[in-house]
Amino acid sequence: MQPTEFVQGLFQYIQDSPTPFHAVKNSEEILSLNGFQRLDEAASWQGLEPGAYYVTRNRSSLIAFNLTQPPHPHQTLRMAGAHTDSPCLKVKPQPLITTQSCIQIGVEVYGGALLNPWFDRDLSLAGRLTWKPQQGPIQSGLIDFKRPVAIIPSLAIHLDREANDNRSINKQNDIVPLALMAHDDITPDFHALLKEQLDMDCPANQATSILDFDLFFYDAQPPAQVGFNKEFLTSARFDNLLSCYALIKAATMTEAPQDFMIVLNDNEETGSVSTTGAQGSFLQSVLERLYPEPAHRTRVTSRSLFISVDNAHAVHPNFPTKYEGNHLPKLNRGPVLKKNANQRYASNSVTSGLFKLICEKAEVPVQEFVMRNDMACGSTIGPLTAAAIGVPTVDIGIPSLAMHSIRETVGNLDGWYLSEVLSGFFQEQQEQLRRQDV
Ligand SMILES: [Zn+2]
Repeated sequence: MQPTEFVQGLFQYIQDSPTPFHAVKNSEEILSLNGFQRLDEAASWQGLEPGAYYVTRNRSSLIAFNLTQPPHPHQTLRMAGAHTDSPCLKVKPQPLITTQSCIQIGVEVYGGALLNPWFDRDLSLAGRLTWKPQQGPIQSGLIDFKRPVAIIPSLAIHLDREANDNRSINKQNDIVPLALMAHDDITPDFHALLKEQLDMDCPANQATSILDFDLFFYDAQPPAQVGFNKEFLTSARFDNLLSCYALIKAATMTEAPQDFMIVLNDNEETGSVSTTGAQGSFLQSVLERLYPEPAHRTRVTSRSLFISVDNAHAVHPNFPTKYEGNHLPKLNRGPVLKKNANQRYASNSVTSGLFKLICEKAEVPVQEFVMRNDMACGSTIGPLTAAAIGVPTVDIGIPSLAMHSIRETVGNLDGWYLSEVLSGFFQEQQEQLRRQDV
C-alpha cells in the first residue's frame, strides 16, 4: 500500500465515522469484507476454529483477532489498541431551547474538547436512536444528517473588545448550537425531526416512537490535504480514528499474519470507566473465553505485547517552549514512543526496545516524547490495559497538532508509517518478541 492510498482510505473512514457507533460499523464492514467472521457476545464460542473473528460491545467498541491455531497456553498474541471516541458536543436528553426567536439544541461537553474552534463551524448531527417498533423488541439504529444543521456563532468583536486577549467560554451558556428559527412560539418536535432522518437512513425501521438517543454534533467540513506540497492532513477525530483505521488496515492487509488481536475501546476521552472502555470488562472477557483456564491466560498475556496507539503531540512551531527541549516530535518523522515516569504511559525500556526493533525492521523512523515536568501529562488506554490484563505494554502514536480541536493537523506520511509498523508487528515471529533477563 502506498501513502496516498492510505490517506484516501483514511479520509473516507473518518468522514463515514462521525461517532464511535459509525466507526465500529465501518470497521466491521472492512473486517467482514476481508474474511473476519462476526461473533456475538451473547452466543457460545465453544469449539472456535482457528480463523479471523470480531466481536462488538454496545456497537461502539470492537475486538478483532486472528488465530492460526486453536487457543493454547504457548501462544503469543500481538495485541494493539486504540479508541473510537473523540471529544465533542453531545445532545442533552431534552435539548430544545427557544429564545429570541431562535431554537437551540442544548449540549453537554463530551471529554476534554478544545472549545474555541467549535465557534462558526458548520455542524452536522449523527448518532444512535432507540425506538419502539410496531411489534417485537426495541430496536436501535444509526443516523447521520451529513449536512450542516447547526452553528455556534461567535459574539462579534464589537460586543467584546477583549475577545482576542481574554475570552473564556461558559460551557452552559456560550456553546449552545443554533438550529432553527422559531415560528409563532411553536416548539418543533425534535423526535419527529429525528424520525425523518431515520426513515432515510434505516428505511426498514417500523418505529412507532423514538424512545431515546445518543447524538453528537460534528464538523461538516470534510478532511483535507493542506500545504503547498500537501504535507499536512486536517480533519476532525484524527485522535483517535487515525489509529483505529491504521489498526484495521494492518489487521486486513498483513500477509501471513501471526496470532494477533486489536482492541478498539469507546469512552477513552471520559476516563475509560464503562462497559466499552479500557477499564471495563470487554477485553478481559474475550481473553477469558479464548483461554478459560486462568493460569493459561496468564501464560499467554505474559509473553505477549500490547501496543497502545494514540496520537502524540508534535512540536508546534509557534509554541516550542511548551515542549521538553530534548523531546520534540516532528510531523512526518514517524510514530512517537511515549514515556512517563509516573505511569501515565505504560512504556518501559523493554517494551520500548521491542517497538524500536519493530520500527527498524519496517524501515520506519521513530521518535520519543516526554512531557515537561512543569506540565500535566495526558494518558491513554495503555496503562489501564496493562494494569487490568498484566500484558507488557508500550504507548505510541503519530505526532499531531491541535489535539482535541474540532480540526486537528497531522503529517501526510505518519499514518502510513504507523500502518506499516503495525503490519510488521502482526507478522513478527514469536522468537523475536521474546525478552530475556541476564
Ligand atoms: Zn486519544
